[in-house]
Amino acid sequence: MEDAIQMVDLKGQYLKIKDEVDAAIQHCIDTTAFINGPQVGEFKMSLAQYLNVKHLIPCANGTDALQIALMALELTPGDEVIVPSFTYVATTEVIALLGLVPVMVDVDPNTFNITADLIKTAITAKTKVVVPVHLFGQSANMEEIMALADEHNLCVIEDNAQAIGAEYTFADGRKVKAGTIGHIGTTSFFPSKNLGCYGDGGAICTNDDELGAKIQMMANHGQVKKYVHKYIGVNSRLDTLQAGILSVKLKYLDQYSTARGSAASYYDKGLADLDGIQTPVRNPQSTHVFHQYTLLVKDGKRDELKKFLESKGIPAMIYYPVPLNEQEAFKGISRVIGDLIVSTALCQSVLSLPIHTEMKESVQDYIINAIKEFYGS
Ligand SMILES: *Cc1c(COP(=O)(O)O)cnc(C)c1O
Repeated sequence: MEDAIQMVDLKGQYLKIKDEVDAAIQHCIDTTAFINGPQVGEFKMSLAQYLNVKHLIPCANGTDALQIALMALELTPGDEVIVPSFTYVATTEVIALLGLVPVMVDVDPNTFNITADLIKTAITAKTKVVVPVHLFGQSANMEEIMALADEHNLCVIEDNAQAIGAEYTFADGRKVKAGTIGHIGTTSFFPSKNLGCYGDGGAICTNDDELGAKIQMMANHGQVKKYVHKYIGVNSRLDTLQAGILSVKLKYLDQYSTARGSAASYYDKGLADLDGIQTPVRNPQSTHVFHQYTLLVKDGKRDELKKFLESKGIPAMIYYPVPLNEQEAFKGISRVIGDLIVSTALCQSVLSLPIHTEMKESVQDYIINAIKEFYGS
């Protein structure tokens, strides 16, 4: 091994598109249109087109995207928002920040995503919103979730920070991009995300004209037009510099998803015979864009395997070590449905291996062999 193995190789990815990215950055500096420059509008159009969605509103990060989405709904403090307990904190944090009640439900043990059946057990008269998180790169079963939401008059916000580019197939064969099925979808352009910029960024999308207009206002000081403020909003913008970089990277997103998919299949094949681990389970309704390649390590050996891999120079990460219901911040302000057995078990057994757009089979062979060595096979 010449270079250290990394979870994500942002430098290697940059070097392949360096000329285009450098030109986009230089162009932004040359024009000094640092805020809301033309590149923001261009990126907005190309991403809306890529996702096939009517309204796309860029913002400062994926957490803001979730907050703004919630702010655009007519909610009252105390209203309940259903979220998975096995996710990144941002999803739940913004709910609490707005005085709403996060209602935490368990997830499917194989796809790690929320399901309609699990959501159903949490619905009360106060439930207004459901936030499915498309964890690690594949969509939750949105068709079922939307049917349940319709039945109970709930709004659905898809947290698509980890699954941009994934494609969801409905029972009738119709295919759409993850994040465009619910009433609102949100995403993050954090550098290590599948479509990452060189700093912070995020976006919100919707096919609803009224919501689209309101989200646009909420992200811009609740402003209808200059100096006319209809709502209490926030200031959340995507920098022109980041928009320029993202427009370059968006052209390669499908290629990047394919590269991640191939690396995942290569791991699958190499690790197939090991009884001690379960490789990622695909949801047949969704393609998987492998934001993470996450193993389930059986028999309580996760931490031991992680340490072993680290001793061989292989980084491996735990997403996520603690279910959100056990976080101090949410004690007393959230509602927990059932005992969340699956989330709790996942936090003790998940292990994510290096995966990115520049993976080499030689490096994957090294990682696969190290895992085999750990299991003595
Ligand atoms: C990354 C992420 C976010 C937050 O995005 P930021 O841009 O870091 O604010 C929200 N939800 C999920 C599931 C994420 O992975």
